[in-house]
Amino acid sequence: MIDICKICGLKKDLCVCEEIAKEEQKIRIKVEKIKFGKMMTIVQGINAKDIDLKEITKGLKSKLACGGTLKDNVVELQGSHAERVKAELIKLGFNKESISIE
Ligand SMILES: [Zn+2]
Repeated sequence: MIDICKICGLKKDLCVCEEIAKEEQKIRIKVEKIKFGKMMTIVQGINAKDIDLKEITKGLKSKLACGGTLKDNVVELQGSHAERVKAELIKLGFNKESISIE
């Protein structure tokens, strides 16, 4: 079965919808203190309709070698990694200008 994009109608290997969507996301990264003095990096603003957030979460967890979860379209990563998360997202094709660290 050929995998066809629902948005543009092209085959998935020719489709650039996700690349375009990546450039349009307004991403906010922040680090919060959680229980027991631990830190958590939170990534918000990625639209799960356009982008495979599960893949992004999986990729970030392996790149940063940390635990993490995807909850209500918000990526939560254990530890304080704001700058590294930003760098990894840029590598994945997200627009540098639209990623802010709070
Ligand atoms: Zn497409």
